[in-house]
Amino acid sequence: MRALSHIRAETFRPSSSPYNARNVIYDLHSHSRASDGALEPTALLQHAAESGVDVLAITDHDTLAAFERIDTPPGGPRLIPGIELSTSWRNIGVHIVGLNVDPASTALRRGVQQQQRSRDERARIIARRLRSAGLPDMLHAVLQIADGEPVSRPHFAVHLVNSGIVKNTKAAFRKYLGAGKPGDVRHGWASLPEVVGWIVQAGGTAVLAHPAKYRLTKTRLRALAMDFLHAGGTAIEVVCGRQSHNTTAHLATLARDLGLAASCGSDFHNGHNRWSRPGGFPPLPDDVRPVWTTWQTRSR
Ligand code: AMP
Ligand code: MN
Ligand code: MN
Ligand code: MN
Repeated sequence: MRALSHIRAETFRPSSSPYNARNVIYDLHSHSRASDGALEPTALLQHAAESGVDVLAITDHDTLAAFERIDTPPGGPRLIPGIELSTSWRNIGVHIVGLNVDPASTALRRGVQQQQRSRDERARIIARRLRSAGLPDMLHAVLQIADGEPVSRPHFAVHLVNSGIVKNTKAAFRKYLGAGKPGDVRHGWASLPEVVGWIVQAGGTAVLAHPAKYRLTKTRLRALAMDFLHAGGTAIEVVCGRQSHNTTAHLATLARDLGLAASCGSDFHNGHNRWSRPGGFPPLPDDVRPVWTTWQTRSR
């Protein structure tokens, strides 16, 4: 808990710092080994610093564990405590990022526990469905790979590759784990209003994550964003990783139309792709309101 209170004491307010200058690089979406990232939280901060990032949010899937194992490296980027919560909307998996949350919040920590119980139960369902699809039972092996961490589909992917069933992670998702495949189970995630509520109760900003990844029509994406807004969400990722200029322009319009602040992040997991690095994304367009500017006057 010592680490948690240390981070809490440093609640991020850009107005009291040099962090509101135009050339400051914010990366507000990244993963550590506390979920499915490759680097320990401290190493992730170091890697972000080497990549030129000034402010980094660590946003692991359904866990705050990163903030219990961080030694802030000297000269590293400013750390924003965050989380990426899984939910579902009209039967598709949707992710909500929480930024600037208090990692000690009781409401958020209870929510995290609930999500982790759902993950355990879901792992059993995924294993059962893969068995029905003709694969051998892999629950035991997958739990060993997860090694006590909440189980996620990438753990299944590792086993599918290790056991020679598929040749790489991409194929594991394409054939077995991705949208519409047997392993795409959305069992038990809390509802959109619930996950947004936990973030808000933890003093944080709820951000609709990587909107382009859901492959929704413009009309459906707007409906999702409206439901998110009504649930108490206030920001949307206008830039997430490498993406086309058209996507950025469309998301910027959506943000402006709905009065949502704009976030940006790499969704960095590991360096497997040459282009994947913290801070590796185009800048936010000029005509949106960066989410960090909404933190300037907030007192909590
Ligand atoms: P889960 O949280 O268990 O639903 O697993 C989702 C995670 O799987 C995402 O956060 C990604 O890191 C990873 N993932 C999703 N789709 C793919 C894909 N096509 N290839 C590789 N990793 C993926
Ligand atoms: Mn992930
Ligand atoms: Mn995500
Ligand atoms: Mn992510």
